[in-house]
Amino acid sequence: MSDSAASLRERILVWAPTLRDGQLAVEILARHGIAAEAFGDIEELCRAIEHGAAGALIPEERLTPAAEARLVQTLKQQPAWSDFPIIVLGVRRSRYTSESARNLEPLGNVTLLDPPLRVRTLVRAGQSAIRARGRQYEAQRAIEERDRFLAMLGHELRNPLNAIALASFGISEGADPKRYVGVLTRQVAQLTRLVDDLLDVARVSSGKILIQRGRVALDGVLRHASEALRGRFDEAGVTLELTIEPCWVEGDSARLEQVFGNLLTNAVKYTSREGRVTVHAHSDGPVVTVTVTDTGVGIDAAILPTIFEPFVQVESSLDRAQGGMGVGLSLVRTLVALHGGSVDAESAGPGRGSCFVVRLPRAPSSGEASPPRPLADAATTDCNLVVVEDNVDARELLVAALEGMGYGVQAAPDGGRGLDLIVASRPAAAIVDIGLPVLDGYELARRVRASEADGIRLIALTGYGQPADRERALAAGFDAHLTKPVDLGRLRHMLDALLEPRASA
Ligand code: ADP
Repeated sequence: MSDSAASLRERILVWAPTLRDGQLAVEILARHGIAAEAFGDIEELCRAIEHGAAGALIPEERLTPAAEARLVQTLKQQPAWSDFPIIVLGVRRSRYTSESARNLEPLGNVTLLDPPLRVRTLVRAGQSAIRARGRQYEAQRAIEERDRFLAMLGHELRNPLNAIALASFGISEGADPKRYVGVLTRQVAQLTRLVDDLLDVARVSSGKILIQRGRVALDGVLRHASEALRGRFDEAGVTLELTIEPCWVEGDSARLEQVFGNLLTNAVKYTSREGRVTVHAHSDGPVVTVTVTDTGVGIDAAILPTIFEPFVQVESSLDRAQGGMGVGLSLVRTLVALHGGSVDAESAGPGRGSCFVVRLPRAPSSGEASPPRPLADAATTDCNLVVVEDNVDARELLVAALEGMGYGVQAAPDGGRGLDLIVASRPAAAIVDIGLPVLDGYELARRVRASEADGIRLIALTGYGQPADRERALAAGFDAHLTKPVDLGRLRHMLDALLEPRASA
């Protein structure tokens, strides 16, 4: 919004019986820091309302039925958020005046100041009008922002949905499903990320993001985040290089992976073919520093300071072609801050690449000797799993995926049979849906914990991803909580982490 539009919105419009009265009122208000402008004509006043104003000051005797009708017509055309403040200066009534107080209802938000008028009262009314109107303009801004965001969200959701629809059509027409697996996997990952980011933004704005603290090998997190995006880099023809020292931080590995996943996604998104992205990590005293540097489009110095604000996007054909909702970096900043760290963006300007620097407090060095097992070693053929899931497709696909990773898997379609299977077969871990027939997942977990099979690792796999759902699952006895659609890489990571202590015990 331009400065002139802003100043129009803060002025009080004075409709004066004579120009002299008008100037007098304007001067009184100006002496008290209120901008005002006098009008001698109802048409001019109505036009000024349409251009933007904080309120209007109108002497009651000017409100003839025709003038009032004209004003009501203008106010009706205001948008739904508007409740235009009008201060009416009442006429002096003698006890012989037959006319009773007028019905000012049709004008809406009216403050009637009866005579004798005191300057203090007038100024106060003017200030209230400005404040109230300011709140209305803020609401307007929020509504416009929301509408822009919804339009963008619709656009972002439509792209993956369109690709999924085409792929499923192709398969139903008898095309080789293998041709479409890559498309479906990529598009589902994209949709999942959109939904996760959206929910996280909602949690961030209500202060509900929870960090599950533990010692985290940041180098492992960086490798895993890079591996997960390897296909994206290959497809974009962008080289990804890692120079990573072993380094430890205190925090939540899933959230840290989200941080670097977002930075890497941006890096590949904003770098053209044959470009390069470098991830560098090292510890220096109490600080672990990770830099994600790209040779991409760069960032204009003017927008660098706002780049971490939610919904900030640089308008350019490349950005819009690449999609995104402008929430990734705001999540990055919040998540890093929750870990007691900071993130900064640097760029020498458009076309000259960008560098994001994340600094995190280093975890105490005790027990640093054993680096995490690489992901490739995660699967253990002799390790039995139980899957409890009532949706046939989801169950069969998950079983097949876990078997593909080398696990021995048994499955049950409801909570009752799931409990029997777990207690009887004593797997190393069970992956359990929450909304199950017979016994829900929570009850199943409680009963497993009360049984002799209580040492089994339990992972909840549900569509409910709010922090309260996670807490409820942990309180029922689950060791971990994953939301659907399942990210197999993360599940594998989780199984690896949960089963490792038992393997070495
Ligand atoms: P988006 O979903 O638009 O990518 P982000 O919050 O992740 O949202 O980023 C906000 C904006 O910051 C992007 O729209 C883009 O203009 C800019 N940006 C982020 N990362 C980079 C980068 N590595 N290079 C250039 N610009 C970037």
